[in-house]
Amino acid sequence: MKKVILVRYGEILLKGLNRPVFENKLISNIKRAIHKLGKVSIIKSQARIYIEPEEENYDFDEALSLLSKVFGIVSVSPVWKIDSSFESIKEYSLRMVKDLIKREGYKTFKVETKRGNKRFPMDSPEISRELGGHILSNVPELSVDVKKPDFILYVEVREFTYIYSEIIPAVCGMPIGSNGKSMLLLSGGIDSPVAGWMIAKRGVEIEAVHFYSYPYTSERAKEKVIELAKILASYCYKINLHIVPFTDIQLEINEKCPHEELTIIMRRVMMQIAEMIAKKTGALALVTGESVGQVASQTIESLAVTNAVVSLPVFRPLIGMDKNEVIDIARKIGTFETSILPYEDCCTVFVAKHPSTKPKLDKILLSESKLDIEELINKAVENTEVLTITKD
Ligand code: ATP
Ligand code: MG
Repeated sequence: MKKVILVRYGEILLKGLNRPVFENKLISNIKRAIHKLGKVSIIKSQARIYIEPEEENYDFDEALSLLSKVFGIVSVSPVWKIDSSFESIKEYSLRMVKDLIKREGYKTFKVETKRGNKRFPMDSPEISRELGGHILSNVPELSVDVKKPDFILYVEVREFTYIYSEIIPAVCGMPIGSNGKSMLLLSGGIDSPVAGWMIAKRGVEIEAVHFYSYPYTSERAKEKVIELAKILASYCYKINLHIVPFTDIQLEINEKCPHEELTIIMRRVMMQIAEMIAKKTGALALVTGESVGQVASQTIESLAVTNAVVSLPVFRPLIGMDKNEVIDIARKIGTFETSILPYEDCCTVFVAKHPSTKPKLDKILLSESKLDIEELINKAVENTEVLTITKD
C-alpha cells in the first residue's frame, strides 16, 4: 500500500486538442505549489493526477491544504493505492475503516465503487455489496446507511485500486499562466483583492499596481497592500507589485481641478499609469474592483469616462455584485481581515463632499488640459518600486 494524493480537475477536460497544454500547466503549478514539502512523482492518468511522495514522513495535510489553493483543481483526496485484487481491497478497506472509526467515531457508512478496469472480474455493485458485507461482519458497531452515512468509502478500481473517504474541495478555475497576464489596480480595500483573485482564477497571471501618497497615506497602509498581495500570491504563487508614488500628482490635481472632479480625474490618471506599466510588463488588460453604483466614481457615466483614457480592455469582475457578495468571497479567500484594517487609501485623502456622479468627458478633458502632469506621470513611473511577492 502506498499513500498518495488524488487530484481531480474539471474545466480543462472540456478542452479539445490543446487539453495537454492545460494539463501540463496544471502539473507545473502543482509542482511549484508543493515543492518545499519534498520529492514527489506526479503521474497523469485517465483525466486524473496522482501525486506520490518519494519520502517517508511526507506532510500530507500541508500538501492537501496547498493544493486546495491551486487554480484548476476541483478537489483532492488522500488515498491509499493498492493492488487491484479483491483480497487486497478487502484487507486495506477494513484497515482504513477501522482507522476512521477510531479517529472520527463514525457509526454508519456505505461503499461506492467505480470500476474503470473492465478486466476486473466483479462489477461495481458486486464489489460494493461484497466489500460492505465484509466490513459489517468485521466491525459489528458499524451499520450501513445509504441515504445519509457518516462516511462513504470510495473504491476506484483501475490498473491499481484507490480507496479513500475524504474529498476536499479546491478552488476550481483554470491553471495560472494558461490565459495571459493582467494588471490589477490593488488598493487596500475589500474589493480589489477579490477582483484580482477572480481573474487569477481564470488562469490569468496577475501583476499588481498600487498608488500611495506618502505622507498623506502611511507606511502601514503600504504594508497592508503588501500583505494583501501575499495572500493573493498564496493562490497565484508570485505577484510583482508595482508601488507608484502618487503624492505630487494628487497635489497638482487638487490644486488645479474643480473639486467635484477630483476623484474621476485621479482615477483616469491611475488608469493611465497602470496601462503604461501594463504595457511594459506584457499585461494585456487592466483589472479593478469596481461595481456599478457603489460610489460616485462607479456610476456608468464615471466608468465610461474612466475607460476613455485607456486602450487596453478593463476587466471589472465585481461589476454586478453587491458588497455583501464581495465580502463573502473576501472571507472565503482570506483577504477580508486584512482589508478592513483601518489604514487610509490615497483615494480617501483628497475627496470632494459632492463628487460628480455624471461627469462629461469633454468637461473633464478641459479640466485636465490645465494640468501639467505629463512629466509628473513619467517621474512617478520612473520612481515606481517593484516588489516580487511570492507564496513562500
Ligand atoms: P476597494 O475596496 O478595492 O478599495 P472601493 O470601493 O474603495 O474599492 P475605489 O476607492 O473607488 O473603490 O476604487 C475603485 C478601484 O480602483 C479599486 O477597486 C481598485 O481597483 C482601484 N484603486 C483604488 N485606489 C487604489 C490605489 N490606491 N492603488 C491602486 N488601485 C486603486
Ligand atoms: Mg478603495
